Amino acid sequence: MAVILTADEALEKAAELILAGNPIAVPTETVYGLAADATNGEAVARIYEVKGRPRFNPLIAHVSDMDMADAIGEFDPLSRLLAEKFWPGPLTLVLPLKAGARIHPLVRAGLDTIALRMPTGFTSCLIARVGRPLAAPSANSSGRISGTSAVAVDADLGARIALIVDGGPTPVGVESTIVKAEGEGLRLLRPGGLAAEEIEAAAGVRLERGKTAGLEAPGMMASHYAPGAKMRLNASAVSPGEALLAFGPARAKDAEGAKAVRNLSPKGDAREAAANFFSMLRELDATGAAVIAVEPIPAAGLGEAINDRLRRAAAPRDIEGASA
Ligand code: AMP
Ligand code: MG
Repeated sequence: MAVILTADEALEKAAELILAGNPIAVPTETVYGLAADATNGEAVARIYEVKGRPRFNPLIAHVSDMDMADAIGEFDPLSRLLAEKFWPGPLTLVLPLKAGARIHPLVRAGLDTIALRMPTGFTSCLIARVGRPLAAPSANSSGRISGTSAVAVDADLGARIALIVDGGPTPVGVESTIVKAEGEGLRLLRPGGLAAEEIEAAAGVRLERGKTAGLEAPGMMASHYAPGAKMRLNASAVSPGEALLAFGPARAKDAEGAKAVRNLSPKGDAREAAANFFSMLRELDATGAAVIAVEPIPAAGLGEAINDRLRRAAAPRDIEGASA
């Protein structure tokens, strides 16, 4: 059961839990967040477990100051202007990931971009205290509404986390607005707690709305990493030249002939597999193998989200073959 502490008494306990790799619920100005160390893959995997999220979406990384933000994202002039004007606050900027940034690939769902936000209040103090960015989606189970009070978070997630920090009702009450610089312009990826008009007035450009042009196959959405190699799922044997994404102690037949092998979790643990998933997929893709064979991964726990992403990555890429 979660302990509920007020924001002025929770900092040390919260920091201790975060540094030990546990997600906790924290107040922000938008909604309560389910926060974990964004540099620790298993801590981020636990966010998905606690939420019961059936798929991996990229998460927002929260920072406490511009130095931390600059170590993670490449700011173009327009994004920097918006950060200077609206941070800390309910605005998230999607930026190219800086080389060497210590953000775990599971936070980015394998993408080369990162969604960054600087919150106010307790969460900002906590980030400064631990000296690490925090990944934090809304503190609610998948499919339920975002928690905007400690009581609401407790009713939903209290049995699954150790600490809820009570900062009172959240002032904004909806998620952050997400924008991304595109060339000279800006795209609104999600409307939220900062009005689009305010952003437009500050930036001096109109916000583009709607998705980018063209049909997108499953797994090819702008916010989804898709490998260049073809994916062959539930493989019980490996063909010569294929790369192998393995899971658990038992190997597919002819695994010795694989071009490269990565094992998501030799002991068959779904949380460890989730933490390794995007980096290993990328490593196998980088070998240039035309096909990545994937051993069966049980659907229990985080296996559901792993299988969801595998199916998207395996879906046909050409427009004709793409299902809606
Ligand atoms: P949540 O963490 O629940 O507030 O949701 C985060 C939102 O940010 C989702 O809608 C994501 O799709 C979006 N997002 C996070 N990172 C990226 C990114 N790198 N590119 C595009 N969208 C992103
Ligand atoms: Mg949410």
